[in-house]
Amino acid sequence: MNTIGLFSIERFEAVFNAAGGVDRVTGVTLNCGRCDRASTSDDHALVHLPGGTLVRCEHCGTHQAVSNAKIAEWDRQSTLEA
Ligand SMILES: [Zn+2]
Repeated sequence: MNTIGLFSIERFEAVFNAAGGVDRVTGVTLNCGRCDRASTSDDHALVHLPGGTLVRCEHCGTHQAVSNAKIAEWDRQSTLEA
């Protein structure tokens, strides 16, 4: 399970560059540890930061910034498990 702050990341979608890094996160589904509800953000709902992404719970507004480099590590983990 990938976790950041209060969030457990169920799945994510991203555009990868040729080097295997994340260019842009286009969707995140997470479980919020504060209100214990699932939240899905699509490309329009996500806030894109330089080199990272701000994910938030649509129910209680808890938010967390995560670097795209960190997200790229998640993908490698899930690839190894698959
Ligand atoms: Zn929440």
